[in-house]
Amino acid sequence: MTYKITLIPGDGIGPEVTSAAVRVLEATGLKFEWESFAAGAEAYEKYKEYIPKELNESIERTRIGLKGPVTTPIGGGFSSINVELRKRFELYANVRPIRNLPGVHTRYPGVDLVVVRENTEGLYSGIEHEVVPGVVESLKIITEKASTRISKFAFNYARKMGRKKIHSIHKANIMKMSDGLFIRCSRNISKEYPEIIYGEHIVDNTCMQLVMNPYQYDILLLENLYGDIVSDLCAGLVGGLGLAPGANIGERASIFEAVHGSAPDIAGKNIANPTAVIRSGILMLRHLDEQDAANRVKAAVHHVYREGKHLTRDMGGTTSTSEFADKVVEAIHSKDLV
Ligand code: NAD
Repeated sequence: MTYKITLIPGDGIGPEVTSAAVRVLEATGLKFEWESFAAGAEAYEKYKEYIPKELNESIERTRIGLKGPVTTPIGGGFSSINVELRKRFELYANVRPIRNLPGVHTRYPGVDLVVVRENTEGLYSGIEHEVVPGVVESLKIITEKASTRISKFAFNYARKMGRKKIHSIHKANIMKMSDGLFIRCSRNISKEYPEIIYGEHIVDNTCMQLVMNPYQYDILLLENLYGDIVSDLCAGLVGGLGLAPGANIGERASIFEAVHGSAPDIAGKNIANPTAVIRSGILMLRHLDEQDAANRVKAAVHHVYREGKHLTRDMGGTTSTSEFADKVVEAIHSKDLV
């Protein structure tokens, strides 16, 4: 069988890291047909659309995407393609597993937690306007429907993955109505899952707790903006943005992408770390229920890190993006891989 996958290489380091991931995924022996499309500024130049019709149709058809980062202009210009894709395809759950890799020395070994971020509303609704010159308003939208849906997702995920604890993260002491509604929804859903310990922490305290003792958490359930910020913090706990994968899950489609952005500071130099996108590819394989292939890629990545001889610059090495992919491919093909 051939899997049809929509590929969005993105821009900045996107094309470099996604092509590395594609090579690794193909090394598993599974057959993929990649439907590749530009998005964002590059797409606009070509099609006069930021998300071309063809890309839209491809996702409708394949229902699975592998995506590199897309640059969003700051303080003006077009709105985020990433946010638009998540809203358009109702990719309401952003799942970001945070785990150490062997051989990567960090302050805390053995971290194992999952960030579950609501992906469609909150301040990412992007509804902003100028009230009078010098005063702008940005609306944070929290709905019972989306908060209940993401809470159910988190609890079902916990049950399926055998996880024990969920903390709903909020700032309901200040945003009593919006964050108040969010935690009320998670609290209500928690009652249907008595085997899972449920807690609530305020987001600023959570950041401090995470850097002091990340082991106290298992699943963090957050609205959109807190999820974004806390994900980067958590990526830092296990070695940085070059390592942290993610999945955007919806009923109609799912798109797999790293936590990191387009990293314009290192783009085009073949030095970015492709691990985060490769690990996002592992999440995609699990979603396709290709567990053997997923386990093999995981073992190959672990092998390269355990050896520690071929690391990219962010990990203290000198290996290029493409050479790193070569090493993972070599390990996948190796008879001794465990
Ligand atoms: P970033 O994640 O691109 O980079 C932050 C830092 O981490 C930089 O120093 C960068 O060099 C480093 N880094 C990131 N990925 C790396 C990798 N794979 N290997 C090695 N180092 C890596 O964040 P930013 O600079 O704040 O954002 C740049 C652009 O990316 C912005 O336009 C932003 O909107 C966009 N962005 C897109 C997505 C997405 O497409 N999903 C996500 C986040 C940011």
